[in-house]
Amino acid sequence: MKVYNTLTRKLETFAPINKNSVRFYACGPTVYNYQHIGNLRTYIFNDILKRVLIFNGYKVKHVMNVTDVGHLTGDGDEGDDKVLLALQREHLPISKESMLKLTKKYMAHFLSDCKKLNLLPSDIVCKATEHVPEMIEIIKKIQKNGFAYETEPAVYFNVSQDKRYGELGRLRLDDLEAGARVKVDPHKKNPLDFVLWFKAVGKHAKHVMQWDAPFGRGFPGWHIECSAMSMHYLGEQFDIHTGGIDHIPVHHTNEIAQSEAATGKHPWVKYWMHGEFLIVGEEKMAKSRGTFVILDDLVEKGYDPLAYRYFCLLTHYRKQLAFTFEGFGAAQNALQKLRLKIQELLNYPQRGEKSSEKYIEEFQHAVNDDLNMPQAVATVWNMVKDETVNNTQKYKALCEFDRVLGLSLNTIKKVKVPNEIKALLTKREDARLHKHWAEADILREEIQKRGYIVDDMPSGPLVKKA
Ligand code: AMP
Ligand code: ZN
Repeated sequence: MKVYNTLTRKLETFAPINKNSVRFYACGPTVYNYQHIGNLRTYIFNDILKRVLIFNGYKVKHVMNVTDVGHLTGDGDEGDDKVLLALQREHLPISKESMLKLTKKYMAHFLSDCKKLNLLPSDIVCKATEHVPEMIEIIKKIQKNGFAYETEPAVYFNVSQDKRYGELGRLRLDDLEAGARVKVDPHKKNPLDFVLWFKAVGKHAKHVMQWDAPFGRGFPGWHIECSAMSMHYLGEQFDIHTGGIDHIPVHHTNEIAQSEAATGKHPWVKYWMHGEFLIVGEEKMAKSRGTFVILDDLVEKGYDPLAYRYFCLLTHYRKQLAFTFEGFGAAQNALQKLRLKIQELLNYPQRGEKSSEKYIEEFQHAVNDDLNMPQAVATVWNMVKDETVNNTQKYKALCEFDRVLGLSLNTIKKVKVPNEIKALLTKREDARLHKHWAEADILREEIQKRGYIVDDMPSGPLVKKA
């Protein structure tokens, strides 16, 4: 299995630290709002990675954090806590209880989206607010090892002590320093230094989430939670760490600096993998812009959540993916066609004589080539369309492929659908996509009159005999 490692900028043969088990940490959401479908693209990438590891026989321990405190609006420690701003946005009381209630709501919504997208659940989902003692312990170690300094408003990480700082992003410190200097915090020795612990003084005096710490009552900086929770659950060194590409220059760069300063061990993480953005027009889909679409919006428009998963599979995770309803609708149609093809395979199990082996090898090769899912999906279609391959073998191979694809293909049941019904079904799907609900209902009745029932399953509409 080959993966692209951001740390080395190379495709590498994957070899975990411990022979057969993989320890994997995925940076999770900041739960101050709904996760948009751009965010969800990153979790689909994580899921494919995890599924490919399992497909290769590895045992995977997957940890994902949830940020519910300490993530400020500015990556340079400026601005306000995103969760506090969310309370204001939603006209909720500024209190600890209401903050916890709000983050709980968005976290539950996110986990329900993950389920709809058929993401394998993480072994551990850990919240920042529940791991502050671990964060305090790490900060103490960083201080003891001489990589931190304390000022009146905060404890900072001292970047000048870290010879490797910025290695992950190939960052040129001079350029960065010049950029950071523009909005420099006068308490920092170096403009690139970052906060490990905010003290509850000055603008943060009334921060509603506060903990006692040896360096003063306050709350953690954003990056420290990932160092603390990942090492707490996975050990001081582990195999894979993922996130979106926006995390490379600041969040992951700082996570590495902190973790290695605390333990003295290098490299903290063996493989760093990053997913590219979902874009709209020329821009990244972002909560701060008007381009924000959530999974519920797609469902309300009559789309199937798994069609979004299929849509993401069609573009390699290291390439930008442009979202358009046209492209997405085409993906939904293709998935529906695949489901109908599978019903056909089940109806005619004897057809074809050749083995599916060639396609199984091709599929394995594609997924092991840095998760080349577009190639893997192309293989699926090539096999399905190859009339020389036996249908029962095709079906078995598809169920095996679905361990990686995660499209619930194995839940599709045998049914013989005449062409006239297939045509009506396609018409009905089209009507639903265009929100022509009355027309869709008429078509459903028409299908029923001809002896078939349409079931709108979570995995898409399926027909069966009435
Ligand atoms: P956040 O909740 O803002 O911390 O983001 C959660 C995850 O989504 C992070 O791993 C981000 O890197 C990722 N992300 C943010 N915007 C996008 C986007 N437009 N496309 C793909 N991933 C994104
Ligand atoms: Zn993180």
